[in-house]
Amino acid sequence: MLDARPTPPADLLIRGAHVLDPRAHVDAPLDVLVRDGEIAELGAPGSLPAEGVEVVEGRSRHLLPGFVDPHVHLRTPGQEHKEDLDSGTRAAAAGGYVAVVAMPNTDPVVDSAPVLLSLREQARREARVPVGFLASVTRGLAGEALTEMAELRDAGALGFTDDGKPVHRAGILRKALQYQRLAGGVLCLHEEDPTLSGRGVMHEGDVSARLGLAGIPSISESTLIARDAALAGYEAGRIHIQHLSARESVEAVWEAKGRDVAITCEVSPHHLTLTDAALLERLDTRLKMNPPLRTEADRRALIDGLRDGTVDCIATDHAPHAREEKEVPFEEAPMGTTGLETAFAAVYTDLVRPGVLPLALVVDKLSAGAALLGLPLPAVQTGRRADLCLVDLAAEWEVGEHGYESRSENCCFAGRTLRGRVVLTVAAGGIAYRERALAVVV
Ligand SMILES: [Zn+2]
Repeated sequence: MLDARPTPPADLLIRGAHVLDPRAHVDAPLDVLVRDGEIAELGAPGSLPAEGVEVVEGRSRHLLPGFVDPHVHLRTPGQEHKEDLDSGTRAAAAGGYVAVVAMPNTDPVVDSAPVLLSLREQARREARVPVGFLASVTRGLAGEALTEMAELRDAGALGFTDDGKPVHRAGILRKALQYQRLAGGVLCLHEEDPTLSGRGVMHEGDVSARLGLAGIPSISESTLIARDAALAGYEAGRIHIQHLSARESVEAVWEAKGRDVAITCEVSPHHLTLTDAALLERLDTRLKMNPPLRTEADRRALIDGLRDGTVDCIATDHAPHAREEKEVPFEEAPMGTTGLETAFAAVYTDLVRPGVLPLALVVDKLSAGAALLGLPLPAVQTGRRADLCLVDLAAEWEVGEHGYESRSENCCFAGRTLRGRVVLTVAAGGIAYRERALAVVV
């Protein structure tokens, strides 16, 4: 149910990289031989033959299972001035991603089989890494009538979401959970009570009070999570909470998991590394997203959630907007930041290097979203298709310095100097990205 344009299968020897695959319990310098797009052999550094393959220098680099992002906005169809399948998946490949899942809040909305089927066909022509699609829960994201969920699943929808909006009416979500029994597919939920969010443009708290801006309270998110967890428990359905941002939300998910509700959740790199205090330094529209950046206590709770397993995966919520759309007063700017090209480096720089989270945990969480949507987890194992990324942890780079692969540049990390750079991505057995300077040993 993932689509990409065909790429020639890679024949590569990645020599002597430190291979880190926490799920396969590999954490050692190794040679990795890729033949015909498959991982053919792992061996001690210098032990594998280089005949007939391209040799890539792996020493002083880490080879990881490729990342999988369960939450991106590729803006196709209808908003190609922000992003399209080609530019969005180029950004994904440059960030080490070997698969991404696109949201249906496009124009038209992905709410019928014909729209989905033509999008999948387009992905088979344009996508640089495999793309999966979610369909909407309600027609036109209007929150009223359910889509034909079974038909959409037959057409290849991985699951359902009204992302950008909540499923506001409990009765509608209940019906979707009932149809899920027949149709399958996880229900991914953007949790926000519009009657609490109102016209808020940032987190409601001390900083919004100081700036005199309307706030979105944490309880806008957490109260809806609690409601939907109760519904999912009652209907024995399966839900995934998108972009958790608040401490109260982590608590709500933790409690639901304790009651054996089939609930999972994701958190974004920006919520893990930034807080609303950043807006005191600069009222930059690139720092305006929904859910908003919250407080240090919220950020710490999200990190603790990753550590104790309450939070299942990291998802970027890559949300491109054109420059002229963001270059307006803060109150008027659309919500969202790009994230595919900076996810690994941001989390590595701010959480792994200072010793807040272990690298192995971050590597696991950057692809764990695959399993939640029924996709295979990438693994550095003999016999598996090559879905890999090679990173240089020592490399320092300034975000945006050489532009972006994404068509949009609304990145909340713009101008930051980050550590950790993706130098090679092999997705679905083919080379999807290589850094220009990547040393090739012949
Ligand atoms: Zn959302």
